[in-house]
Amino acid sequence: MTTKFVHLRYCYNARRRWEKEVREFEKKFPNYCRRCGGVGGFIYRYDPSPRGIALSPGWMEDFETCEDCIEKDKCPRCGEKIIWDTSGKYEDHYECSSCGWSDLKLEEGIPEEPECCCDEVRTYRKEKKHAKH
Ligand SMILES: [Zn+2]
Ligand SMILES: [Zn+2]
Ligand SMILES: [Zn+2]
Repeated sequence: MTTKFVHLRYCYNARRRWEKEVREFEKKFPNYCRRCGGVGGFIYRYDPSPRGIALSPGWMEDFETCEDCIEKDKCPRCGEKIIWDTSGKYEDHYECSSCGWSDLKLEEGIPEEPECCCDEVRTYRKEKKHAKH
């Protein structure tokens, strides 16, 4: 017997919103870079403290440009050629003349999938129920 995974109401709603945002994004930018999701690269989070010793809470962030778009001078969102800003206004700055994307708007890629904690919440609720005796 297989039971279909059912999301909790708030999670289901969040996913519906996310799906709608993704559809809107794809409609607006049909040629967005599939590799990086139109973000222009990948953000890596890591804990800089040595293993076992938490010096300070928090994560370091690192950014790596995407080799399918930015590395090829292509706009991550619309696929047009990136015009590099040489005015010296920004250091290493680029802006797309077609859609206005720039590396200062890195977060404006395809919406990220909301995290699903339904399993954890269900387990937690079950445990809470059992603990009530
Ligand atoms: Zn890309
Ligand atoms: Zn563009
Ligand atoms: Zn869920």
